[in-house]
Amino acid sequence: MKKILFLALISLSITANAQDVICHRGYWDTEGAAQNSIRSLVKADSIGAWGSEFDVWMTADSVLVVNHDATFNGVTIETAKWDDLKTMRLNNGEPLPTLDLMLECGKRLKTRLILEMKPHTNKEQEKEAACRIVEMVKDKGLEDRIEYITFSYQGMKELKGLAKQGTPIYYLNGELSPSQLAELDVAGIDYSIRVMREHPQWIDEAHSLGMKVNVWTVNSERDMDWCIQNGVDFITTNAPELLQRKLKQ
Ligand code: MG
Repeated sequence: MKKILFLALISLSITANAQDVICHRGYWDTEGAAQNSIRSLVKADSIGAWGSEFDVWMTADSVLVVNHDATFNGVTIETAKWDDLKTMRLNNGEPLPTLDLMLECGKRLKTRLILEMKPHTNKEQEKEAACRIVEMVKDKGLEDRIEYITFSYQGMKELKGLAKQGTPIYYLNGELSPSQLAELDVAGIDYSIRVMREHPQWIDEAHSLGMKVNVWTVNSERDMDWCIQNGVDFITTNAPELLQRKLKQ
């Protein structure tokens, strides 16, 4: 009897924790933060978010920079030198962060670091970016706290070849089914809510292949409910506290 009760409790707790919350570009929609800022990473950690996502580019002189867009204040990061960018500030007053700074901050926190490598125009530069990212993560002792995501098919393969075995890597671009990705041995799909609503069968398909499903950017209650009901594994959102409240209900 005790054993049955124990198993029932285990299965209940698994069901209750089916979804994990990932803050999209950190928890930026909050006092004093900005997208992809150090503050947004600290805030994500402070609410106990499972993970916090941020975007990474590499400059022409090989400095890894955290920013979403290809440009910052009109300067294209890929073709700029770090000197052109290093005095620039985010709209919360922080300096534009380097990956080095972001990871140093991450070392003191618990939240998982969801690192998006941006697809670079110059594929040789992207390859170098992948090498430098993986090397830096290793140097900082963060190999067991990092997950990689990317829209770049080539970049995904490079990260897979470079990262410590077992490091989760997810594909963002949305055009490949889980079966089409299976031979690359990646952790799963990380697709937009639009793509997943068009292909809801990909959730079971991924799970049957031992892959996980992350969905972005899930901000409305309607989309959150859809993800929860359909059993996706991770939900990436700009409204993490709303999602946490829903998951506790
Ligand atoms: Mg991103």
